Amino acid sequence: MPQGTAADWLTAADADEVHLVFPRDIHEDLMKVLFPSEGHPFYGMGERGAFAVLAKSTGNYRASYIVEDVVHPESSDDLELKGTAWGDRSESRSIGSLFGSSSNGDVSSDDSIVGYEFSEAYHERAIERARSRGGGLIRIHTQPGGVRESGTDTASAARVYENDRDRLPGGAPFAAAITNDAGDWSMRVYEPTRDPSDGPEVTRADHVRVVGPATDEPALEVRPTGWRDADADSVGVASAEQDSTIQLWGADGQARLADLRVGVVGCGGVGSILAEHLARLGVGELVFVDFDHLESANFNRAQGARRIDVRQDRLKTEVAERVARRSATAENFETRVVDGSVVDQNPEYAAVPDLLDCDLIMSGVDAARPRQVLDVLARAHCIPVIDGGSLLHADDQGVLEKEAKVETAVTGPGWPCFECQRVWTQDDVDWEADHPEFRGERGYVQGGKDPAEEDRDPSVIGVNAIVAGLMQRRFLAITLDVARKTEGTLRLGLRDVETNMSSTWGCEEDCEAATIGVGDREELPTGTDWAMRYERDDMEMPEQKTRDASDLVDDLR
Ligand SMILES: [Zn+2]
Repeated sequence: MPQGTAADWLTAADADEVHLVFPRDIHEDLMKVLFPSEGHPFYGMGERGAFAVLAKSTGNYRASYIVEDVVHPESSDDLELKGTAWGDRSESRSIGSLFGSSSNGDVSSDDSIVGYEFSEAYHERAIERARSRGGGLIRIHTQPGGVRESGTDTASAARVYENDRDRLPGGAPFAAAITNDAGDWSMRVYEPTRDPSDGPEVTRADHVRVVGPATDEPALEVRPTGWRDADADSVGVASAEQDSTIQLWGADGQARLADLRVGVVGCGGVGSILAEHLARLGVGELVFVDFDHLESANFNRAQGARRIDVRQDRLKTEVAERVARRSATAENFETRVVDGSVVDQNPEYAAVPDLLDCDLIMSGVDAARPRQVLDVLARAHCIPVIDGGSLLHADDQGVLEKEAKVETAVTGPGWPCFECQRVWTQDDVDWEADHPEFRGERGYVQGGKDPAEEDRDPSVIGVNAIVAGLMQRRFLAITLDVARKTEGTLRLGLRDVETNMSSTWGCEEDCEAATIGVGDREELPTGTDWAMRYERDDMEMPEQKTRDASDLVDDLR
């Protein structure tokens, strides 16, 4: 659970959105079981099914259910129906599927004589696996035609839920899902009601998300479940303004962008550029996270900022939101502003729950501690994070050297972790913890005489534009598959007019990164964001730290 947040209690029934999520390799593993190729022992069976271990990922308004591990059936006996001949069942199914497409949305119709059940031995193995991982369970079966569940499907899953709930770890989720060979999905989440004499509360998923690098598909797919009315909540496309991008990736691609909710963490030099560019690209919703106010010292690289914003001490998130709103090409563009920190655990300032509502996160934080948190979040909650940063050198006279380094990296399920990509190191995290006055943006320049001096901030807007441009390139590669895949870190050395590129792929052998897809069960390395408290005079700074920090500033002077 994200600790100490209101999200702790967000049930599927209370959530605005419910997602069914697959890490890419788990999805491929499951497809082999459900749709076996010729020669597989289960090839040719009518309907198939499987149990899988399920994790919950709780955001502020969205509850996501991540399929984290497939429990493989060992024989066709595992998939046999209880006490019913195959012929009876397929007959009842085919009648149901005839009406499936026209009456989609009618959950009460009882078109099937029996529900889908697995052998007791397989069921026991599934519970054992869920318990050993600390997760919940999902029952999945295939169906010809549509993915609408019958009344019997719902009732039989409810029976299994009532039977299993006390045997699964406390609070573990339970769900049932149906898929077909067209890749449509439906999922029901079963939750206890307040009155135990009532049946379970059943909530349907509205979207399915598959996340991770793939050979032929975008690394991030977000699509409505079979239950979703395609017109109900989709963001429209203002096609005249999007003519040139539609020529590049089609109306389908443009609609994909319009369906995305993207987090922008850090609204400084890189984030302010991303705010405008992502909005113009046609992304449907942006969530801006930053705790910093605009100051004279960073006016020279805050895209879209006005002097009055500095005089009025506006938050960087507010400026980013304004810029995005007036630039957006998606018809029903939405924004959310989070005045807080990725690192902080205090529910008042915690940004994690809002980021767990996002489909993808762009990080321009340029600090190790938030990058460490995003690294774990990306893997555990299956939300890809694209990070970008730059490094400029000053010589010992405080003069900017010609060499500039630009770096972008991606992490999430299927990508190497940020720590192995050297996006953050433990040394940097420790150093930042001891130096709360040293904000990320000051880190742009290494060396020089006095890093604490406010007015020595360099002008780096051009370098920021390169970082933001490369991040967008990777964003399009992940969401639309239109750019060449670069799965690891991309480093760009800028010196005079030459550029040098180098890349890093893969995790180290002794990598201890967070487990993929375990959702709320992974404890994020959040805590107190001293940098935020140091920066903000409207937030409480415990006495001890205040003294430490001011002593340190005195030392630097
Ligand atoms: Zn690693």
